[in-house]
Amino acid sequence: MNKKYTIITYGCQMNHHDSERIAYLLESLGYSPEKDLEKSDFIIYNTCLVRENAELKVYGQLGSLKALKKQKPNIIIAVCGCMMQTGNARETIISKYKHVDIIFGTKNISRLPSLIARHRSTGEVVVDIEEADIIDDDTPINRNHPFIAYVNIMTGCNNYCTFCIVPYARGKEISRTPDSIIREIKDLAKRGYKEIILLGQNVNSYGKTLRPKVTFPELLKMVNDIDGIERIRFLTSHPKDCSDELIDAIANLDKVCENIHLPFQSGSNKVLKNMHRVYTREHYLNTIRKLKEKIPNITLSTDIIVGFPGETEEDFKETLSLVKEVEYDQGFTFLYSIRKGTKAAEMKDQIPHEVKQERFQRLIDSMYEIFYKKNKADVGKVLEVLVEGTSKNNPEVLTGRTRGYKLVHFVGGKRNIGHLVNVRITGNNSFALEGEII
Ligand code: SF4
Repeated sequence: MNKKYTIITYGCQMNHHDSERIAYLLESLGYSPEKDLEKSDFIIYNTCLVRENAELKVYGQLGSLKALKKQKPNIIIAVCGCMMQTGNARETIISKYKHVDIIFGTKNISRLPSLIARHRSTGEVVVDIEEADIIDDDTPINRNHPFIAYVNIMTGCNNYCTFCIVPYARGKEISRTPDSIIREIKDLAKRGYKEIILLGQNVNSYGKTLRPKVTFPELLKMVNDIDGIERIRFLTSHPKDCSDELIDAIANLDKVCENIHLPFQSGSNKVLKNMHRVYTREHYLNTIRKLKEKIPNITLSTDIIVGFPGETEEDFKETLSLVKEVEYDQGFTFLYSIRKGTKAAEMKDQIPHEVKQERFQRLIDSMYEIFYKKNKADVGKVLEVLVEGTSKNNPEVLTGRTRGYKLVHFVGGKRNIGHLVNVRITGNNSFALEGEII
């Protein structure tokens, strides 16, 4: 019988990467992918805890599967991911969603085939949340992309920013060994992968748990030496761990792209302290200055939280002034929202929604203006683009990314997909460039 599976993924790139692992495991058991839940034999939700909204959606969707389970009692319904790492969500699902068959945590993915077997043989709900000490790294992966690959180098986080639930859900920071990472990337290179994106909650703190210790810049050097790989990126970096050694590695290693995502979250030292970000505005700006000095063509992106508890108009203006000083190429802005289980949720002086919204609007107006200016400065340049595919709106138009992670649209043949091409930039808006292939 041809069995089908559906994976519904919420949250960050780490979760999407975990879902690629789950897909591999299910396909090795004979399942094939299916978008329509009603035709599926195995439905799994890979959940996220970061936003309450995503959590509520999972409950809503699980509720609506009750009828399907009645109609098709042999269907298996599973829930995994960050939400399952906390007792509350797990207990809610076990007690209220009795049609869920399998529940497992972020570190138990490789055991999925045995969990399915256990559920099949007993017919009972199987729960597996055991904390593993080593990162779950050797499960093969069913990759969604033919030439760009995410590679997990670490999991967990020790930083405990007061707004963030990740350390409670993903646990303490654990690094994968360089041998295992390099083995995976060499195999990807053999299979024609061109771009590698090293993934972790705090990649530039990589290696601290390893014996002997290996630094993140040392790992970048090892990846840079792998034949066949053309570009290396990494996500996400913490400003406190952006060392001179890392800046030199970006400047000197030819495959490491001149681009860094460095979330600053707030421009006010008072707010940074309340967020437990462990750096100051001055330290952050000094890091940016060094990056720009050593890598003149560096592109910068960031994350910013607007309306953190206690943020005054003056604090917010410091955020605005930092944005103007740095001149980011891209950035993601978030309205602070209470996340139960974090320290910030208990803080007094929560900011009214209208105030947050008004500040948010001022911030994005300012950022979009800067993005436009930065993109405009690329007009006339010839940039290397890795062609990723055709535009959703026009199949004649190709899209790809520069080394600086800027999106470029240009007319060209589909044979270019998966290759590096040179594109002369002829136009721009705040979010993308337009060009012509040379
Ligand atoms: S560094 Fe802070 S924001 Fe990032 S995952 Fe760790 S606790 Fe969360």
